[in-house]
Amino acid sequence: MPASVTSQEIEYAIRTVPDFPKPGIQFKDITPVLADARLFAGAIELLTKNFTPGSIDAVVGIDARGFIFAAAAATRLHAGFVPIRKKGKLPYRTIEEDYALEYGHATVAMHIDGLKAGARVLLVDDLLATGGTAAAATSLVKKLGGNILEIGFLIELKFLNGRDKLPGYPIRSLVTY
Ligand code: AMP
Repeated sequence: MPASVTSQEIEYAIRTVPDFPKPGIQFKDITPVLADARLFAGAIELLTKNFTPGSIDAVVGIDARGFIFAAAAATRLHAGFVPIRKKGKLPYRTIEEDYALEYGHATVAMHIDGLKAGARVLLVDDLLATGGTAAAATSLVKKLGGNILEIGFLIELKFLNGRDKLPGYPIRSLVTY
């Protein structure tokens, strides 16, 4: 087991790329965290800190960078991994949820048998910005009867007030800007 990692070490490894994918966006690049074995393991340790193996039934990850953290968290918690994907990517029958973007809208989807009713869920994504994506994800989990015990993010852009769209949910973010 690697020595404990601090969230400050993770923060130092995150690379901010200006004007990607379009002008004005400060993109938070998490690939340097993933490439460092100690930081990656430490990030998963911090994201799963409130739970013991067996206390979560499913870690639900959000397309696409959320999958990386959610899948690793799932193996650590001895839980299953369940993906929430952008519309049109999942092969079986799905439920869908629409949400507003700055311009236009997007749709996320989940397999209808992705969760058992009453499943204890940890929801994970890489980054909380405006909260629209995570809020749509909570709706899907709720529709399937899942019980979200916590929502975990590696990064939270606090100035965008994404938490306001996730009222009542315990939220854990490792690094905030
Ligand atoms: P939002 O729905 O506004 O909270 O956006 C969250 C989603 O968009 C997450 O899945 C992130 O991966 C992605 N995202 C939004 N803003 C950024 C950013 N500045 N850097 C990296 N990813 C971002």
